[in-house]
Amino acid sequence: MNLKMKPVVDDLKPYEPGKPIEAVKEELGLDSVIKLASNENPHGSSQAVQKQLQEAGAPNLYPDGHAQALRQAVADHLQVKEGQLLFGAGSDEVILLLCRAMLAEQTNTVMATPTFSQYKQNAAVEGAQIIEVPLKDGVHDLDAMVDAIDDETRIVWICNPNNPSGTYVNAETFSAFMERVPSDVLVVSDEAYGEYVEAGDYPDTIAMMNTYENLLILRTFSKMYGLAGLRIGFAVGAEALISKLEPLRPPFNTTTVAQEAAIAALDDQAFVQDCREKNLREKYKLETFFKEKGCMPYPSETNFLLVNVGVNGDRAFDALLQRGIIVRSGEALGFANCIRVSIGTEKENEQFMASFSEWINAQDG
Ligand SMILES: *Cc1c(COP(=O)(O)O)cnc(C)c1O
Repeated sequence: MNLKMKPVVDDLKPYEPGKPIEAVKEELGLDSVIKLASNENPHGSSQAVQKQLQEAGAPNLYPDGHAQALRQAVADHLQVKEGQLLFGAGSDEVILLLCRAMLAEQTNTVMATPTFSQYKQNAAVEGAQIIEVPLKDGVHDLDAMVDAIDDETRIVWICNPNNPSGTYVNAETFSAFMERVPSDVLVVSDEAYGEYVEAGDYPDTIAMMNTYENLLILRTFSKMYGLAGLRIGFAVGAEALISKLEPLRPPFNTTTVAQEAAIAALDDQAFVQDCREKNLREKYKLETFFKEKGCMPYPSETNFLLVNVGVNGDRAFDALLQRGIIVRSGEALGFANCIRVSIGTEKENEQFMASFSEWINAQDG
């Protein structure tokens, strides 16, 4: 091919999603396949969302690019100003917009490793230098991250709780970190799993925004709210920052259907509470199970567990796939001897545990 890409584009690899259910059924000739690979809500979405989808607004008309009705609902829910919100086609798009707005050659960005892949991916496209700071005992090493900041640093990414480790940074540590970060460096707190957190000392970043204008929060409707397929997420930040970012947003980046569904989802906090309780119960069950099998899971505040299986994660991945269960191998996620398992429904988890037992017991022999 003679077309000349930006040099960095030649080095990029496409995002590797969890394997789709239908593809696995076909490949292996299986009737039933369970996907515990993408941290989706296994309980679906609220009944109110189902109802709203049947009454969805006209598809021939462009959506309200400003997402006014949803904006109002989210502002009410979080007790922030409407002007503090930026909506995207998932928080993935907001990550892209932030990188476009702030990163270029001669700048750098600081992130943990391993962490969510899209910070690095989008920063690379903009030609920024990427400074990766290893997790310490599976947790963001905020002291080392502050030390990595220099005059060219534009964005520091804190994935809290972290994907793929499931671990979190507590309020005290996070506040001490914010105190040390220069005010001209943006701190992004990616809270894709924030609704799952049970820890009492998880930072209240919304409250902290009054103190730190350089703090931006990412939230999504893809995980707890069960709308991953509709692509909607948002950022909360200082009005001055949000108004700078707003012109970079494609004019109709979120759909009418997604906006309406998100309003319905947000309105049904009983569904959220129910899912949170189910997740917690199942998480304890799986943690106990793994420990009994001699596999140590990282402490998780999310709807997934990263667990050390003692051999390369690809082997566990393959063995589980043969049994109709899709997980993520840690190999591609930076934890070679781990798998990452999304916490499913009670029934899904039982099937997972039966298959995992079969495999690990055979390993011992
Ligand atoms: C899933 C996920 C996202 C992206 O979610 P969207 O579907 O794009 O809203 C962002 N950050 C983390 C850490 C995630 O796990």
